[in-house]
Amino acid sequence: MKPATPSTVQARTLLGQMKPYSPGKPIWEVQRELGLTDVVKLASNENALGPSPLAVTAITMALGELHRYPDAHAFDLRQALSAKLDVAPEQLIVTNGGDELITLLSEAYLEAGDEVIVPEHTFTEYEFGAQLMGAVVRKVPLQPGFEYDWNSIAAAVTDRTKLIYLCTPNNPTGTYMPKPDLLKLLAALPPQVLVILDSAYTHFASADDYTDGLELVREGYPVLVLQTFSKIYGLAGIRVGFGVGPQELIRSILQVKEPFNVNALAQTAAIAALGDEEHVRRSRELVLRERDRLYAGLRGLGVSFTESMSNFILVELGPEAKQRYERLMASGVIVRYGGGWGLPEHVRVSIGLSEENDRLLEALQLVLSEA
Ligand SMILES: *Cc1c(COP(=O)(O)O)cnc(C)c1O
Repeated sequence: MKPATPSTVQARTLLGQMKPYSPGKPIWEVQRELGLTDVVKLASNENALGPSPLAVTAITMALGELHRYPDAHAFDLRQALSAKLDVAPEQLIVTNGGDELITLLSEAYLEAGDEVIVPEHTFTEYEFGAQLMGAVVRKVPLQPGFEYDWNSIAAAVTDRTKLIYLCTPNNPTGTYMPKPDLLKLLAALPPQVLVILDSAYTHFASADDYTDGLELVREGYPVLVLQTFSKIYGLAGIRVGFGVGPQELIRSILQVKEPFNVNALAQTAAIAALGDEEHVRRSRELVLRERDRLYAGLRGLGVSFTESMSNFILVELGPEAKQRYERLMASGVIVRYGGGWGLPEHVRVSIGLSEENDRLLEALQLVLSEA
C-alpha cells in the first residue's frame, strides 16, 4: 500500500482572520485543571434554578420516539409561540439556539463587502457571522456608562449597510435601548437596512421604557426579534431559540436552514418550558432580588459596576482585572473575563443562587485585599 500523503487542501483564507468564540469555562474543566471540588459557575448567564421541571418531564416522556426525525417545521412549537407572543406562525423561525439564527441571517443576507453595524461592546457572534460571509463590521461605540446612542448608530449607515444588531438588554453591559430611542432610530433608517433586536434577556428587563421589539413586529415594523430558551427557561444545554419578524424575511431565512436543525427533544422541551409560568416567575424573582443584593455587596466592597437590566452584571476590576479573574477561578468561582469584548478591565458575573452570590462576594473581597 502506498504511504498516506498529508493533505494540502486549503481552508478559506478568511478563516485565518476569524477570532474563535471563547465560552465560559465549564465546571468540570476548572475542577480538573485546578483540582477543585466545590466550584461555582457564574460565567454563562444560565438559569441558576436549573431547567423548567415541566421541560424535564416532557423530555423523559419523548425518549421512546428518538428513532424518528424531528419535525422540520417545528409546527407545534411555532403554534405555542404564536399563541404566547400573539404573532402568526409564519412570522416565526425556530433555530438550534439563538446562535444559529445569527448564522442563518448572515447566510441569507450578507454578500462579501456588505456592512454590518454592531455596538462596541456586545455579543461577539454578530461579528463572527459577518466575518464568515466576508462582510465588513462597523463598530459603533456606546456612550459613557455603556448607554446606547441611536444618533451615532444612524450616522454609521452607508449604502452598503445591510444589518444592524441591537442587543437589548446588551450582553455584556446590561444596558438597553429605550423604546423612544429605538423608534427614532427606525424612523431614520433607509428601508434596505434590517434591524435585529436581540432580546435574549427580555424577561429580566424591568425598566418601564424597555421594549423587546415584539410589539414592533406586531405593528409591522421591519425588525427581526431574536430570543432563546437558553436563559430564563434554563435550556441552554439542549439548544433552541427563535426569531420573530415579517413573513417575507422569515421566508428568506428559512431558505438557508437545514431541514432538521432543531432536535426532537429540544422542540418538546421548549413547548413545555413556554407553558411553565411558575418556573419563569421564580427565575425572574430570583434574579431581580439577587441583582439588588449583589449591587449592595459590590458597593460595600467599593467596586464599580454597571446597573443591569439582565441576569448578569458587568463589574470593573481595574488594570489587574485579568489576574483577579484568575484568582477568583483559583478559589472556585468562575466568572467571564471581559478581554474578548474589548473590556480588559472588566469581568461579567452571572447572577446565581443566593449562596453562590455570597461565595462570589467573599472571594472577591479576598482577591481585592491581595496586592
Ligand atoms: C445567550 C445569548 C443568545 C442565544 O444563545 P443560544 O444559547 O444560542 O440560544 C443570543 N444573544 C445573546 C446576546 C445571548 O447572550
